[in-house]
Amino acid sequence: MSANNRVPRQLAAPEPTWFVDTDVVILGSGAAGLSAALALRPVRDVVLVTKDILAAGSTNWAQGGLAAVLDPNDSIELHVQDTLEAGAGLCDESAVRELVSEAPTAIRYLMELGAAFDAGDSSGEIALTREGGHSHNRIVHAGGDQSGAEVQRTLDESVRLAGVQVVERAFGLDVVTGKTANGTRAVAGVRVAMLDSNGGVESVGIVTARAVIIATGGYGQVYASTSNPPAVTGDGIALALRAGVEANDLEFIQFHPTVLWSGPEATGQQALISEAVRGEGAILLDAAGQRVMAGVHPQEDLAPRDVVASAISRRMSEAPAGVDDHVYLDARKIEKFEDRFPSITASCLSAGIDPQHELIPVAPAAHYVCGGVKATLDGATSLQGLYVVGEAACTGVHGANRLASNSLTEGVVAGTRVGRELSWKLPEEVSTVDDDVEGALIDSYHRAALRSAMSRYVGVLRTPDGLTAAARILNTLGANASADVVPTRKAFEATNMLTVAIAVVEAAHTRQESRGCHRRTDFAEPRTDWMRHLSCRIVDGRMEVSA
Ligand SMILES: Cc1cc2nc3c(=O)[nH]c(=O)nc-3n(C[C@H](O)[C@H](O)[C@H](O)COP(=O)(O)OP(=O)(O)OC[C@H]3O[C@@H](n4cnc5c(N)ncnc54)[C@H](O)[C@@H]3O)c2cc1C
Repeated sequence: MSANNRVPRQLAAPEPTWFVDTDVVILGSGAAGLSAALALRPVRDVVLVTKDILAAGSTNWAQGGLAAVLDPNDSIELHVQDTLEAGAGLCDESAVRELVSEAPTAIRYLMELGAAFDAGDSSGEIALTREGGHSHNRIVHAGGDQSGAEVQRTLDESVRLAGVQVVERAFGLDVVTGKTANGTRAVAGVRVAMLDSNGGVESVGIVTARAVIIATGGYGQVYASTSNPPAVTGDGIALALRAGVEANDLEFIQFHPTVLWSGPEATGQQALISEAVRGEGAILLDAAGQRVMAGVHPQEDLAPRDVVASAISRRMSEAPAGVDDHVYLDARKIEKFEDRFPSITASCLSAGIDPQHELIPVAPAAHYVCGGVKATLDGATSLQGLYVVGEAACTGVHGANRLASNSLTEGVVAGTRVGRELSWKLPEEVSTVDDDVEGALIDSYHRAALRSAMSRYVGVLRTPDGLTAAARILNTLGANASADVVPTRKAFEATNMLTVAIAVVEAAHTRQESRGCHRRTDFAEPRTDWMRHLSCRIVDGRMEVSA
C-alpha cells in the first residue's frame, strides 16, 4: 500500500560497556516468561530480563481466568471445537489440540506451585465459569476477578525461590546474531539497556546466550484506548522483525467489547469489565435502553468477542439517544456483585458508578493480539536460537480470534514447553558475530499521534481510506527516525510501537475480507480465497507483507 514503510534496523543506544554470559536469556516476566524460567532453572543458567518490575505485564491484570477441561462432563474435543470456531478458519488444529490437551496439567501445575483458585461450593471442588464462545463451564478463576494476579504472584514467588537471576528495569533492545560453525545464521545473545527509575539509560550491555526467549507480551498500547498496562508495547515482536523473523496474523487484534468508559478524553489503560460479568447474566443495552445483542447472534451477550465488539461499534455509530461513544452493561441482577467481582466493583466505584444498582458505561478497546512472531508451541522460530512464547508469539492457537481465557493457559503451557526443550538441548553455539547496523529511534512524544491514528483508523471497523490515512501518518512519524534521538525507555518503546503499527496497518490493508476480529467495511464477509495467513517481514529496512 505504501511507498515507504521504512523502519529502523536496530534501536539506537550507547555502546555496550558490560558483558554477561549465560545459557538462556528470557525477556519478559509474565506467565510465559516466568513459566519458561521455572522449567529451565533446574538444568540451565538463566537470566530473566524485564523492563519494569516483575508484574508489569498483562498477566497481572487478567480477570476472567484460565480455560481448561476439568469437568468430567466437558471434553477436550469440545474445547478444541470452541477454539477452532472462534479462530474463524485460521487456527492450526494440531497446535490447538496440543494446547487444549495440556491445559488441565498446566492448571494442576499452578496449583502445586501454590495458586489458590476459587472453590465452587462446600465440596471444595474448583469453581468453573463460562465466558463468551465456550460451550461449557471451563474457566478457572482466583480471587473472583483477580485470576491473573494470582498466577503472577504464584510464578513470581516460585521463580524467586528457584533462584532464577532476575534483572528488573532492564530493556531488551535487539538480538545479536552470528553464524554457527556450519554457517547457519543464529542468535548469539541480546543487547540490554539498564534503566534508571525515570526510564533513562544507565548503561548498555550484552548478555550472550545459546538461546533468547522472547516473552514480552502483545502490543495493546499502540492504541489510544486499551485494557493493557503501559509495558505492553510490542517490543519483542519489533525486535524479532528487526532480526529478520516473520510475524503472522498481526491484523487480528481482539477488541474487548467492554472496558469501563470513563469519558471522551480518557486514554491509555482502561479498566476491564470482564466477560465473566456477562457470563453471570449481565446484558448490553444502548443509551435508548434497547438490547444490543438481541437477534445479532444465537449466543446473544455471550457471543464471541469480535461479534459483540462489532455489534457495539455499529450501534454506537447509530448514536441511539444521541450517544455515539459508549453503551451500557446492566449487571444489576447479579447477586452479591461485589463478592464475585471485587476489582471491577472497585474500578466502577472509583468512577462514581455502583454496579449493583446502576448501569455501567462501556466501550470496546484493544485487548489481545492474536498474531505475533511465527513460532511453534515450543517457541521455535525460523531463526536458530530465537524462541517466542505467550502473547508475543503466533502459534496458530488463536487463528483470527482468540477464545476467551485461552491465553494465560497458552503462556503457561508454551513457557513450560520451551523451558523443557531447552533443558534437554541447547542450540548450537555461534562462532562468528555479525557486524552492528546503524540504529535509529523516534522521539517518545510521537506516541500520542501514533496511538490516536491507530484507534481512529485501525480499530474495530476498518475502511480502506482510514487504513491509507493511518499509513500516511505512521510513515510521517517514521521519517523522523534518527540516530540522534536521546535513548530512553519511552523512545525505545515508541520506535517498537511504530514498527509494529506499520506492520498491522499493512496487513489490515492487504486482507480484503472480514474474518475473526479483523472487520473491513468494504469487505463485510469472510472470503474463501483469504483463508490464509499474512506474514510481515522487514526486507532492506522496509516492512513487507506477503500471503
Ligand atoms: C485487563 C486484561 C484482562 C485479561 N484477562 C484475561 C483472562 O481472563 N484470561 C486470559 O487467558 N487472558 C487474559 N488476558 C490476556 C492475558 O493476560 C495475556 O495474554 C497474557 O497474560 C500474556 O502473558 P505474557 O507472559 O505473554 O505477557 P505479559 O504478561 O504481558 O508480560 C510481558 C512481560 O514482558 C516485559 N517486557 C516487555 N517488553 C520488554 C523488553 N523490551 N525488555 C524486557 N522486558 C520486556 C513486560 O514488562 C512484562 O513483564 C487479559 C489481558 C488484560 C490486559
